[in-house]
Amino acid sequence: MADMTGPRGGPVLVVGSVALDAVRTPFGEAKDALGGAASYASVSASFFSPVRMVAVVGADFPEQHVAEFAQRGIDVRGLQRAPGNTFRWAGYYEFDLNQAHTLATELNVFETFRPELPEDYRHSPYVFLANIDPELQLSVLNQIRRPKLVACDTMNYWIESKREKVLEVLARVDLALMNEAEARQLCGEANLVAAARQILNYGPGVVVIKKGEHGAMMLSRDSFFSAPGYPLEEVRDPTGAGDTFAGGLIGYLARCDERDDHGTIRRAIISGAVMASFTVEDFSLNRLLRLETEEIAERYHEIGVMTRFGGF
Ligand code: AMP
Repeated sequence: MADMTGPRGGPVLVVGSVALDAVRTPFGEAKDALGGAASYASVSASFFSPVRMVAVVGADFPEQHVAEFAQRGIDVRGLQRAPGNTFRWAGYYEFDLNQAHTLATELNVFETFRPELPEDYRHSPYVFLANIDPELQLSVLNQIRRPKLVACDTMNYWIESKREKVLEVLARVDLALMNEAEARQLCGEANLVAAARQILNYGPGVVVIKKGEHGAMMLSRDSFFSAPGYPLEEVRDPTGAGDTFAGGLIGYLARCDERDDHGTIRRAIISGAVMASFTVEDFSLNRLLRLETEEIAERYHEIGVMTRFGGF
C-alpha cells in the first residue's frame, strides 16, 4: 500500500448506474446529489488503477459532475448523454444504516440505453458490472474480448424483476459481490455461508458478501476470508458503500494485475473496506472526491494492526 502513489495497471471498465439521488438519514439529507453504482465504483477504483466508465445521463445532469469524474482521471468517453432525465433513486435509512429503504427508482434514460463500447474499451482486462439492469450488464459483456477478470454486483430490485438474467450474468463472471440481504434473497437461504456456496454453484469462482458496517466475507471453493468493517464512530450516509467497496476491490486487483492469488484477493477486500469507510462519512461522493491517497494507506495499515493476532 505504501507505493500507492497514483493509478497503475488495469484499466478497469465499469458499467452501472450514474444517478441523481435523494437520500435521507437520521443525520441529514441530500437532494439531486450525485450517486449511482458506477459513480461510486469508478471514483473508488480510480485511486488504484485507470478507469473507463460506461453509463448514460440525461439532459438534467450537471456538467460539473462529468468534470469531477474527468479530474479523477476517469475516461468518460463511454458516458453518454441522452435526451430525457437522469436515473433517479430516492431512499431513506433509519438508525439501522445497513438497511436502505427505497422510495422511488426512476430508470429514465437507462430504459432505452443500449451501450456501444468504443473499440479500445472492448479490450479492457478488468471489468466491473456494477449494479444496473442485468440485460445491460450482459450487453457489455458480449462486447468485451477476453478479459482477465469480470466482477459483478446486483441488488434486490433486479433480483425481483429479472432473476433469470441475474443468474445468466452470474454464470459468466469470475467474482460476484452482493450484500447479505441480496444473497439470502437470491438463494432463498438464511445461512450466509450456505448462500455464498450456492452462489459459487451459479458460476463465479469467488463470492464476496458485503455486510455493511460488519465488513465482508469471501468464499471460494478452497478458501474463506472475513474482513472487518473499519470501526467508524460517525457515519452520515451509507449510500454507495457497497459500490465503493467493489470499486476499491477491483481497482486493487487491476493494479496488481492478479486474479487468483489468495493473499492479493484478501488485500483487495481490505482496500474495498477502507474505501467504503470514507464514503459513508459524508453524503453523496463528497468524501471520496476530497480523499487523499495517504488517508487510504493510513486506514489500510490500521486495519492490519487491528486484526493481527498470533499464537496459533
Ligand atoms: P449502495 O448503497 O452501494 O447499494 O448503492 C447505492 C446507489 O445505487 C445509489 O447511489 C443509487 O443511485 C443506486 N441504485 C439504487 N437502486 C438502483 C437500481 N435498481 N439499479 C442501479 N442502481 C441503483
